[in-house]
Amino acid sequence: MFDCHCHFVTDNALCFSAELLPDRIELPVQYGFIGSSEAGLDSRYVDRTSMEKQVEILSEILEYAKNEDIPVSLHCVRATGRMVQLIEKMGFGKCRLMWHGFTGSVETAAVLYRLGVIVSIGPRFGGDVGALYRANRFLALESDYEGTSKADHDEIMKRHYENCAGKLGMSVGELEDMCRETAKAFTDYKAAGTGKN
Ligand SMILES: [Zn+2]
Repeated sequence: MFDCHCHFVTDNALCFSAELLPDRIELPVQYGFIGSSEAGLDSRYVDRTSMEKQVEILSEILEYAKNEDIPVSLHCVRATGRMVQLIEKMGFGKCRLMWHGFTGSVETAAVLYRLGVIVSIGPRFGGDVGALYRANRFLALESDYEGTSKADHDEIMKRHYENCAGKLGMSVGELEDMCRETAKAFTDYKAAGTGKN
């Protein structure tokens, strides 16, 4: 099983949280940098960092990611329009961006599909999983899990896969294969593993 969110919580990923936004982010250029997670826009923190500033910093990260061909897991809270606008303006290849914790509409999911963006849903996703998948075939699942127990995490993911497979009329195996393909497209990039090749 593939959990897009956990996947990028590693030492060599840039974890960027809007909650902890610095004035300016130093983009890592060290060897082995594999991806960026939680790059995004979050309207809960505009008191601390204005939306304009957040857009500016995110643009910088996306520009860097695009040039280096590294995948980015996007974080977005109540800033969907701005986020879609930015992605559209910059233009990315297929499956280079993943919108984690997606809770948006089917219409937004369809736009994101056209833009090549993976939508990742956690157990908290309250929408129609079937309609979402019909709108965006680049689907990934994540745990929403904030604790540290691997056993708890695995159990939540197992249930999430079973639940979604049921809603999609697939077997868990089929859903796993589908997510694995998406994950492969997301992580299969030139800078992977041992640096650029
Ligand atoms: Zn997030």
